[in-house]
Amino acid sequence: MRYLSTRGHADRKQFCEILLEGLAPDGGLYLPESYPQLDAARLQALRQVWQSRGYAGLAFEVLSLYIDDIPAADLKALCEKTYTEAVFGTPQIVPLKPLQAAGHARPEMFLEALSNGPTLAFKDMAMQLLGNLFEYELARRGEELNILGATSGDTGSAAEYAMRGKAGVRVFMTSPNGRMSPFQQAQMFSLLDENIHNIAIDGVFDDCQDIVKAVSNDLDFKRQYKIGTVNSINWARLLAQVVYYFAGYFQATQSNDQKVSFTVPSGNFGNVCAGHVARMMGLPIDRLVVATNENDVLDEFFRTGVYRVRGTADTHETSSPSMDISKASNFERFVFDLLERDGDQTKAIFGEGLSRQGFFDLSGDPRFAQAATTYGFDSGRSTHADRLQTIQQVFAAYGMMIDTHTADGVKVAKEHLNPQVPMIVLETALPIKFASTIVEALGREPVRPPQFEGIEQLPKRVQVMPADVAQIKSYIAQHCD
Ligand SMILES: *Cc1c(COP(=O)(O)O)cnc(C)c1O
Repeated sequence: MRYLSTRGHADRKQFCEILLEGLAPDGGLYLPESYPQLDAARLQALRQVWQSRGYAGLAFEVLSLYIDDIPAADLKALCEKTYTEAVFGTPQIVPLKPLQAAGHARPEMFLEALSNGPTLAFKDMAMQLLGNLFEYELARRGEELNILGATSGDTGSAAEYAMRGKAGVRVFMTSPNGRMSPFQQAQMFSLLDENIHNIAIDGVFDDCQDIVKAVSNDLDFKRQYKIGTVNSINWARLLAQVVYYFAGYFQATQSNDQKVSFTVPSGNFGNVCAGHVARMMGLPIDRLVVATNENDVLDEFFRTGVYRVRGTADTHETSSPSMDISKASNFERFVFDLLERDGDQTKAIFGEGLSRQGFFDLSGDPRFAQAATTYGFDSGRSTHADRLQTIQQVFAAYGMMIDTHTADGVKVAKEHLNPQVPMIVLETALPIKFASTIVEALGREPVRPPQFEGIEQLPKRVQVMPADVAQIKSYIAQHCD
């Protein structure tokens, strides 16, 4: 398997070459040259793997279709080390939870539990594997990597929990001082591992991102200190997410003649793009429903064919904050497929065109008109009021507390139900992470998993610093030997 850039660059690379890279040299995103196709026999074999060898076995089989530069025995060991009951809380790793009222023959829908990893959000599903892949590949090369990131919550803590204690990797994670939820701060800052550096910046999230950009743009510094990232455009993260679409499908169906639909709470389009990849491989997915919050860049595109990047003033701070985006950084991958993999056209609309105009318009393109049929996409949006109401309804009808992002998914899923096709909503976080909105909706505190009792009282390790690039650089330099 070789990987290409969505912007048409001539290079073809192997998996481990792009594992530690961000963008392709032409600014595009990496995708496999083609999606491996699963015929009926292979899909049946995967169902049997799921039944006999569970999630780790399934992950190994799916990843093997895309990774041919890690020996099979090593890849298998990496999957088995990553997807354990000890780390993800259940033997199934991603169990389905039916939303089914008493006296009803069928569930209204299912939640697929992706949020029982160390940081209680679905990003652990991919990041835990990435931590083990990084450690493996860096050791093989005899190299080191210093991950520099900016976070407003979920990504940073998932990265830190994945990289803690890993040989060859250090994490320098900036976050806006005092602006994450108390639970999220406690999660991150209570990590005392020597290779994890929490840097609380006096400023807002944009200041943190600007610092990361400034440091990464200093190519000499970047090379000398081996600076890398783990952001959501990383292909390995996306690939790891493909696996749970298979696991969800096998749990919701008895045979491969059946179809299911998925609704995915979406921000940067990473999660649902993994669903697109699974569908392109031949997994019998009927609809892929993209659920956004008030930041509805993606819903607007699927409704109108216009992709319009939002300015800062137009980007809302919402109660599902991990979906507060101004543009969707993985969206280019889908558009490349939609444009029948025309790298020149993808480059034209996402490169200069987008920076100059702030939007592109595919409404007149017949391929856009066909997109809902060809690729199965639907979309919808949810607001704060919808979120509260959905959290209340699910609690009243099913006795289950759901988080704000998952609530956006359930709200939009309800608008796309088909009695013939089971609907699976991806549960992207647990309610404890966003306690204040749960209290607003239900008048009571969310359930706290036992291992998180009292984490606010644990000792903290965090360095508060001004939003000053030079000082951050010198902090990194000092902590790199
Ligand atoms: C990151 C995140 C999302 C959005 O996922 P994308 O892959 O960016 O679309 C949704 N919900 C939660 C809780 C998240 O952390």
